[in-house]
Amino acid sequence: MKMHNFNAGPSILPREAIENSAKAILELDGIGLSLLEISHRTKDFEKVNDEANALLRELLGVPDTHKIIFLGGGASTQFYEVPYNFLENKAGYINTGVWAKKAIKEAKIFGQTEVVASSEDKNFNYIPKGYRIPTDLDYLHITTNNTIYGTEYHTDIDSPVMLVADMSSDILSRPVDVSKYGMIYGGAQKNMGPAGVTFVIVREDVLGKVSRPLPSMVDYRNHIANDSMFNTPPVFPIFVLREVLKWVKKEGGVAEMNRRAHERADLLYGEIDRNPLFKGTAEKEDRSLMNICFVMNDGYEELAPEFLEFAKARGMVGIKGHRLVGGFRASCYNALAKESVQALVACMQEFEAANKK
Ligand SMILES: *Cc1c(COP(=O)(O)O)cnc(C)c1O
Repeated sequence: MKMHNFNAGPSILPREAIENSAKAILELDGIGLSLLEISHRTKDFEKVNDEANALLRELLGVPDTHKIIFLGGGASTQFYEVPYNFLENKAGYINTGVWAKKAIKEAKIFGQTEVVASSEDKNFNYIPKGYRIPTDLDYLHITTNNTIYGTEYHTDIDSPVMLVADMSSDILSRPVDVSKYGMIYGGAQKNMGPAGVTFVIVREDVLGKVSRPLPSMVDYRNHIANDSMFNTPPVFPIFVLREVLKWVKKEGGVAEMNRRAHERADLLYGEIDRNPLFKGTAEKEDRSLMNICFVMNDGYEELAPEFLEFAKARGMVGIKGHRLVGGFRASCYNALAKESVQALVACMQEFEAANKK
């Protein structure tokens, strides 16, 4: 049976990136050794690292003012490294869900933290708007795509203070004006690679401003100065990430990824809105193109477990919603083919035909 991979993360990757990575585990570029058994300081790995860096710069249009580094520790490590490096007096956070909350919790350890706006009043089903950003903040932190609640910023917001963004789950799915951000970071495992590597894009001139001493590993400047090789980087995840970036470029870059994301989302939200058995959970204007959340419509609630089984039997993988939202979540990352969304839509229609009251 053809499997349709809607996993939220780690998640679907381009097949050819997986195949090329599998080959490199056996032997890297004809060198007679596996990628896994060579030093990260060899020219063979340096090439991989440099290409990954250059490709990300090219695909996102990262300006010279910003540096790109690949780290371990996941996005969650950045939740504390951000305030460690930038929080001197006060930091602002937009609370749009679980990940934002975790970031806020860590920032509080380092200093004064203000929640500038929140969508908690409606179980995070929208992106706050119309708030005033205080100008005395060291930075404002946003989560551009809320993986669990299925809401997303569709544009780069204006901020009078340095903007820091967790883009774990929508990186490379839409063009981003990187110059508007002091820092962008994320775990690669949603849309850019496997688990184990974290990308950080940071404006160089914002570093080194805090008065607290920084442990070497926390200070981004050390990783920048050593091209992500201050210590042993996650070599295999960086290799896979490079393969994914090569694929994105070959397929037409971020603009094409965005076109496909809209195409998939239009198909699935279209069906959610049409099909009387289902309804979406996020406010329409803030709906995520990446994580599409929906539940059984009023009067059909009890059919949820049955639909999950029904979908599973037709090859749908990973569509159970997060327990905080319930229902279903179809994560539609870059590597997901339109055909998988069409298969899910067909499955919803078949279920409707069998169960409509
Ligand atoms: C998955 C996710 C995280 C957590 O990433 P880890 O790499 O597991 O630490 C943080 N933020 C967002 C938006 C996510 O989707």
